[in-house]
Amino acid sequence: MQLIKLSEDDLKDVSSQLTLQRAESYVGNFYDCNLNDGVLTGKIRGNHGEYIVEIEVIGEGRIKSHKCGCETSREEFCKHAAALGLTYIYTPWLFSGKRIGRSDIKTTDDLKYHISTTPLREMFIELKSAGYSLADIADLLKISTVQLSGIIKDDQAGKTHQLTEPVKLACLYLLDKQLGK
Ligand SMILES: [Zn+2]
Repeated sequence: MQLIKLSEDDLKDVSSQLTLQRAESYVGNFYDCNLNDGVLTGKIRGNHGEYIVEIEVIGEGRIKSHKCGCETSREEFCKHAAALGLTYIYTPWLFSGKRIGRSDIKTTDDLKYHISTTPLREMFIELKSAGYSLADIADLLKISTVQLSGIIKDDQAGKTHQLTEPVKLACLYLLDKQLGK
């Protein structure tokens, strides 16, 4: 499975600022999320029961179509569809039915996929059991423990920092090499 490219700017191309604002309160409330052939799907409880929401993304983040059970979606890109897109941008791992394990990384695409579908907190739990403390990792990265905790916390909430992916790469290296302390 291949990740798709999708950014908030891509969502702005198809929805209004107001829709995106309204979408915020639905972000993270999807269940049964899936990604298949560029089509993101997820279920959410709306004002009139459960909606199955779908958006199709082609190329470098162009949203081709959307489906939702709500009234608004017949005429425009609805807040549920926008929320589904945002949920994917913030927490792509919710959509990855399949994860690529560390030992199965063979290409840079696999690596990118593994990095973006593995929550940082998960990596730190493993590092901790390998004997590394938060301070050890912070020291290795030459950043403060406060900054590192912030990055981990934000990653869990779906916010990415400039350092998120480099930190994940460093963690992956440590975990993969099983370096002793
Ligand atoms: Zn809708």
